[in-house]
Amino acid sequence: MNGMMQAAVESCPGCGLKLPPTEGATHAYVLSSPGCWALYSEVLAREYSDPAYMAVHRLTVDAYAVQHPGVPERRSIQSVNVHLVGLHLVLDRGADGAFARHVIGAMTQKLTDRLTWLDPPADHAALTVRDVIEARDAADHGKRVRDWAAAVWASWRPHHSRVSALADEAIRRM
Ligand SMILES: [Zn+2]
Repeated sequence: MNGMMQAAVESCPGCGLKLPPTEGATHAYVLSSPGCWALYSEVLAREYSDPAYMAVHRLTVDAYAVQHPGVPERRSIQSVNVHLVGLHLVLDRGADGAFARHVIGAMTQKLTDRLTWLDPPADHAALTVRDVIEARDAADHGKRVRDWAAAVWASWRPHHSRVSALADEAIRRM
């Protein structure tokens, strides 16, 4: 065993998750460490392979995107805004994933000029994609994704009223 190797960790620039350093792919503007992206990819693979896991897919995608906001540029500004609206619609208004997708579609088609950079939370949410990867079954997966998404949404509290107003505007223009 090599003690120095074991001690090495890499912090995810988005969620703060500390993992052993790895090589690998990351996303162009949903900025994460390769290790965190690999965990997310594993969660997505589970969801795409089983409808019972897929039931919470909207929350998974939205939570991961806003927990990895990246830097201010056109694509990340749009990403953070639409995925925050997705979290708001599902968690606060009880919308289903299909409705949230339609609202997000209206945002990307008609509201892009209204979207601005929202400063990410100073403190990371306590839960990350690693809490989801440990799920025992589909029911546990659903609960863990909901808890994670709620923690991430809560961490963006200073922007909640702005996000709610954006959702209303998008719904009016659907
Ligand atoms: Zn991360």
